[in-house]
Amino acid sequence: MLTIVNPATEAILAQISEDNAGAIASKAAYARAAQRQWAQTSLAERCQIIGRFQELLAIHREAHAQTLTAEVGKPITQARAEIRATGDRLDFFLKHTAAALTPAIVWTEPTLTEEITWEPLGLVANISAWNYPYFVGSNVFIPALLAGNAVLYKPSEFATLTGQAIAQRLQEAGLPDGLFQLIVGDGATGAALLEQPVDGIFFTGSHATGRRIAAAAAKQLTKVQLELGGKDPAYVCEDVDLATAAASLAEGAFYNNGQSCCAVERIYVQQQIYEPFVAAFLETVHGFKLGDPTLDNTDLGPLTRVVQQAVLTQQIQDAVERGAKLLCGGQPILGAGYFFEPTVLSEVNHSMTVMQAESFGPVIGIQRVADDVEAVRLMADTPYGLTAGVYTRDRQRAIAILKQLPVGSAYWNCCDRVSPRLPWSGRGHSGLGLTLSTHGIRAFAQPKAWHLRSA
Ligand code: NAD
Repeated sequence: MLTIVNPATEAILAQISEDNAGAIASKAAYARAAQRQWAQTSLAERCQIIGRFQELLAIHREAHAQTLTAEVGKPITQARAEIRATGDRLDFFLKHTAAALTPAIVWTEPTLTEEITWEPLGLVANISAWNYPYFVGSNVFIPALLAGNAVLYKPSEFATLTGQAIAQRLQEAGLPDGLFQLIVGDGATGAALLEQPVDGIFFTGSHATGRRIAAAAAKQLTKVQLELGGKDPAYVCEDVDLATAAASLAEGAFYNNGQSCCAVERIYVQQQIYEPFVAAFLETVHGFKLGDPTLDNTDLGPLTRVVQQAVLTQQIQDAVERGAKLLCGGQPILGAGYFFEPTVLSEVNHSMTVMQAESFGPVIGIQRVADDVEAVRLMADTPYGLTAGVYTRDRQRAIAILKQLPVGSAYWNCCDRVSPRLPWSGRGHSGLGLTLSTHGIRAFAQPKAWHLRSA
């Protein structure tokens, strides 16, 4: 039995039966049968159903936002914003799937035509994370369905009620029975799911779990995509407007309580402006309101998982023991709920875990650097490669720096940003494959190469 706990109050919200191996096998068989029919439907018909799903999400946004806030502790304004912006992602997929999957004649001779067509993968497994369940889920299951696949969707055990809401709305939107199957449970259920033969595995979660997923995918030799963690750096050059850069980076570090794969996790500041930048950054952080996530004026809610309190405490202690200055925060807040003080550390360096391992919480280290060369060296000095940002007035300088970094997304004067129009991918420990953009639509289809000789 899965117990769903509100991380802000520790009240039990629900107890839900987990799917066992037998239930997963029947759901997989049912979904596979449904997919054969679905692959025969027109894209226009599929778009109509997903369009209706989009309308239902908008109609029920407030109720779904309340559920999301209750189970993951995300401040209510951020829960509403996530659901609203999911509508924009759906718009992108609805407008661009036809073009991405249109057959292309790539060569003609008098008696020979070469053509590429796109076919669905078949049955795909989508094992997902809790931090942005609408975003990371819909990046996968929406293009998968539009491309003609069936989906076995396992939401995180920390976002199961949201998973149920998504499944209910897809059904109401008219998705054929069986095509989208909710698999309820924790990591053990996810592992059982991967015992089923599937035609693609799409995972969002931590690097540690990602390695297990890749091993399971190798056993059945199926396509696998992994969207994993990050240790996303930003570099602040000496020519910035301090207040603007500090406000942008504080937001990037603390939005969703720092529980974003692309949250800013490390800040490097040119030595000439180090002290004033840190002061401006602290001023912004002092303005954040921590507390009840159901209130409209709350900026920071609780951590979603209680275990993360110990991870953050350990990272902060390690940093302080190695010479970091604790400028604010530093510990869990006593009482009900998994709250943690927003924490800023200065005088950090790369001997400290806080500058190397993913924090995934409201903790940031700010390090002084001598010049662009040192900034590049330090930004590249982790095994992760999700995003990196540079703050400067000089576009050429930013681009020259960002070109040297092994990351999937490069930000100039911005951070913690995802666009449906751009591919979302990580390098190194941050993942394999990509979602979003037209490339991310094709991730759910396989090309067939046609060699057509008329005589
Ligand atoms: P997690 O790895 O703990 O769990 C992710 C999912 O995997 C959950 O559904 C879980 O039940 C399942 N799982 C766990 N063990 C499994 C196993 N052995 N076999 C199959 N499934 C298993 O991650 P999380 O705590 O849900 O999410 C946080 C992590 O996700 C962070 O590292 C974050 O950076 C990353 N993330 C990455 C992106 C991205 O787009 N790159 C987006 C969101 C989150």
